[in-house]
Amino acid sequence: MTRPVFPIVRNACALILCMMAGVSSATDLWLANARIIDGTGTAPTGLRTVHLRDGKVLAIGKDAAPAGAIDLRGSYLLPGFIDAHTHIEDPASAERALRSGVTTTRVLGDAYLKGLATRDLVRQGNTPGPEMLVSAGHVRPVLGEAFVLSFPQFGRYLHAPLTGAEPVAEVVRAVIARGADVIKVGASERAGLASTDPRKPELSFEELSAAVNEAGAKGLYVAAHAHGAGGVNAAVRAGVRSIEHGTYADAATLQLMLEKGTFWVPTLAVMSPLGDPRGDHAEDIALQLRTYHMMKPLREGVRRAHALGIPVATGTDGTYGDGDATARIRIAHEIEELVKCGLTPLEAITAATANAARLLGVDARTGTVAPGKEADLLVVDRNPLEDTTTLFEPMLVVNNGEIILNRVGL
Ligand SMILES: [Zn+2]
Repeated sequence: MTRPVFPIVRNACALILCMMAGVSSATDLWLANARIIDGTGTAPTGLRTVHLRDGKVLAIGKDAAPAGAIDLRGSYLLPGFIDAHTHIEDPASAERALRSGVTTTRVLGDAYLKGLATRDLVRQGNTPGPEMLVSAGHVRPVLGEAFVLSFPQFGRYLHAPLTGAEPVAEVVRAVIARGADVIKVGASERAGLASTDPRKPELSFEELSAAVNEAGAKGLYVAAHAHGAGGVNAAVRAGVRSIEHGTYADAATLQLMLEKGTFWVPTLAVMSPLGDPRGDHAEDIALQLRTYHMMKPLREGVRRAHALGIPVATGTDGTYGDGDATARIRIAHEIEELVKCGLTPLEAITAATANAARLLGVDARTGTVAPGKEADLLVVDRNPLEDTTTLFEPMLVVNNGEIILNRVGL
């Protein structure tokens, strides 16, 4: 995609006028000598100065920056990453995600509503973190003890499954009333446990449709955890906005996803180490072998989906926590996995920025570097189109115009 030239010129003029007028306040910040990868899939620009004001990008121009600007010396400036599938449940994890360059995230499943509470602490300004959109639990036949303890009105599901369209709709209503930003449903069993079979369906098409309708009535959408071909197909037909994992999606379902505009968040990086014999799961041979065999259809599916034009978005499925199996997975891992599936590094970066922003419905505000957008930015020192490893170590992270991490001087 190419952007029209005139907004850049217009804003370059705005920058000059602003500088001539000597306008400068505490909320102004200039990032000078940046090569911009704006998130839309456009190649990097030449050297630019980015003027931030009041948490937003005010202008992007070619002019010399005023004194006090941060000189990026030709480094690469990108939109902050969007991690469209996490399980961030506490302030330390939220801060860790932010410092890794994630300025927006979608939390799809949290225990005891801890993701929801962390979101509220971040929104209130009590702790640093990315913008968080949170599902407040996971709607599936076996709701689990943490869910029932958070919603004791559903105590009847502690020892019995949630089944039927109206009961599912009732649970979705309660989750929305509790403050969810998105609904997560289970369309197939989990992969990360040896005791579950990820090919087995969970909620039926009718139950998934009830969730989609209930969420839609409140202006929200549904993300479906689905591995098995049948579960993925039922979820897509029911009208979910994104498929999470999607391991065994078949050709007919991919075609349907293309027609319906369904997003795919394949979470390759979390699946990959599960199957790594050097990984944390090495002692669990059954789980390890199964995941190893799941990677091939998953990678092949993503390759075909991308070739078809299905929008792919990045998600780590990680906690950003302290020590659990998924804690160390970063968006840069997922970008590297997407490149292995045939996306160019630039396309993989778009999956982590503009595509994910569209999925989350925040694209009017963030996900690209452009005047008027939130100043959610990331700077890396090498060209990530030539060396994606640079994405693991941001030099600078800016969230809503606030500098979160600054290694530029090092
Ligand atoms: Zn997950």
